[in-house]
Amino acid sequence: MIQKTNFYINGEWVAPIEENKFSVINPANETAFATISLGGVSDLNKAVSAAKAAFLNWSKTPLAERIEMVRNLLSIYESRANEMAEAISSEMGAPIKLAINAQTAAGAGHIKAFIKALENFEFEHTLRQDTPDEYIIREPIGVCGLITPWNWPMNQVTLKVVPAVAVGCTVILKPSEVAPISSMLFAEFMNDAGFPDGVFNLINGDGPTVGEAMSNHPEIDMMSFTGSTRAGIAVTKGAAETVKRVSLELGGKGANIIFSDCDVEKAVKRGAAHCFNNTGQSCNAPTRMLVQKDVYEKAIQIAQETAENTEVNEPNLPGNHIGPLVSEVQYNKVQDLIDAGIKEGAKLIAGGLGRPEGFNRGYFVRPTVFADVNNDMRIAREEVFGPVLSIIPFETEAEAIAISNDTSYGLTDYVQSGDRERTQRVARQLRAGMVQVNGAPRASGSPFGGYKQSGNGREGGIEGFEEFLETKAVSGWTTTS
Ligand code: NAD
Repeated sequence: MIQKTNFYINGEWVAPIEENKFSVINPANETAFATISLGGVSDLNKAVSAAKAAFLNWSKTPLAERIEMVRNLLSIYESRANEMAEAISSEMGAPIKLAINAQTAAGAGHIKAFIKALENFEFEHTLRQDTPDEYIIREPIGVCGLITPWNWPMNQVTLKVVPAVAVGCTVILKPSEVAPISSMLFAEFMNDAGFPDGVFNLINGDGPTVGEAMSNHPEIDMMSFTGSTRAGIAVTKGAAETVKRVSLELGGKGANIIFSDCDVEKAVKRGAAHCFNNTGQSCNAPTRMLVQKDVYEKAIQIAQETAENTEVNEPNLPGNHIGPLVSEVQYNKVQDLIDAGIKEGAKLIAGGLGRPEGFNRGYFVRPTVFADVNNDMRIAREEVFGPVLSIIPFETEAEAIAISNDTSYGLTDYVQSGDRERTQRVARQLRAGMVQVNGAPRASGSPFGGYKQSGNGREGGIEGFEEFLETKAVSGWTTTS
């Protein structure tokens, strides 16, 4: 059993003041493999004091020195990538190939993109050429509270920690208590990269205790949160008393519009596989597949085949299969929503309730496809966070746009069509922070974030830095008396 009960505060691993042991469960076998502590408010106060003290010098460190440390971090991260992938796989069940090539690789990709963006970022400039006396200075906002979820742990941790410290902020990271081991390894990397004491701090804890205390802490200047919309609302309410900036990356219920003029077979296969990837536990998963009526039956058949060909297996085996869901809570939630889909009259065409054949333990679920889904059903409105695809028919472009936008979320939508004018016209009308057309991948450094209840922040690249900056306008910059 791995013992990881200490917290990383002010450059050292320290025992918690409020020890409250908590088991980290391997979702593939439902057994504990590590013990951590869930800290309390006194642990948080200690971390905030360290971050506040460190901010004074760190915020004034030359940019070149900060970039150098981020480069050190990247080389350590890359040299220990296998260890990181194993930690992620054990704590949240990603199959090892996905853990290496996507989960861990995403972190390295973000660090690289931030280095590039940071090198070209203008922290100071005159307002305009015709106003040489008006000077704009972008300064680090201060002490930042960072809260992350369990589904893409290093993706989220690097998207927050790296830009925050790179621009001169100091941070307290509270990773998900369900998957904290990868973040504790990341803390070792930060230590070895040479960041000064107190710049990066990590404490474990649950949402209602440490998470809420961070949100309303008077000496934390900003909260950056990724997780459920429910918890994002709690963070926002907690932060209101001290008028903190709050940046939120929340859930999604992405629409994937399949027009009949696309390569239907390729588009449906790709869309279904994307929905099942990471066992459906991605905020940007295309979970509502909207299919034009003249290719509807064909699409159903391809989606069914894709689900049936999706192998479910143990995370420690090599291959392109999907692993278990992260936890019993998540397993029960997904079962409840599959059950709701059946009871509300959607047509089950693949998968269904219970574990796949051959599994009698572990939070494994069956890749599931529902057809004839109505956008008012729970499976169309709620984020399932499991490998469950809902297929909804439509006739016209206007109808597809209306169904896509009829959701409280607005993170990523997808459009498949052979007509470029149409894809661009539709992309403009979708109320979502991101639109991906015909399988185009997202470029590194492109802003990630949502509309509506998917959040209000943007992570990655330049927008990802700007979240952590204050703007100061100095009038009379060159005036001498
Ligand atoms: P969650 O909201 O339960 O937990 C996320 C984090 O918030 C954890 O660290 C948790 O301890 C903390 N937390 C919980 N309650 C809190 C509270 N009241 N105050 C402060 N912190 C609190 O979410 P989860 O189940 O870990 O993650 C899945 C969710 O994250 C999904 O809804 C998913 O869509 C979302 N997500 C969004 C993005 C994005 O970028 N938009 C990316 C990944 C995941």
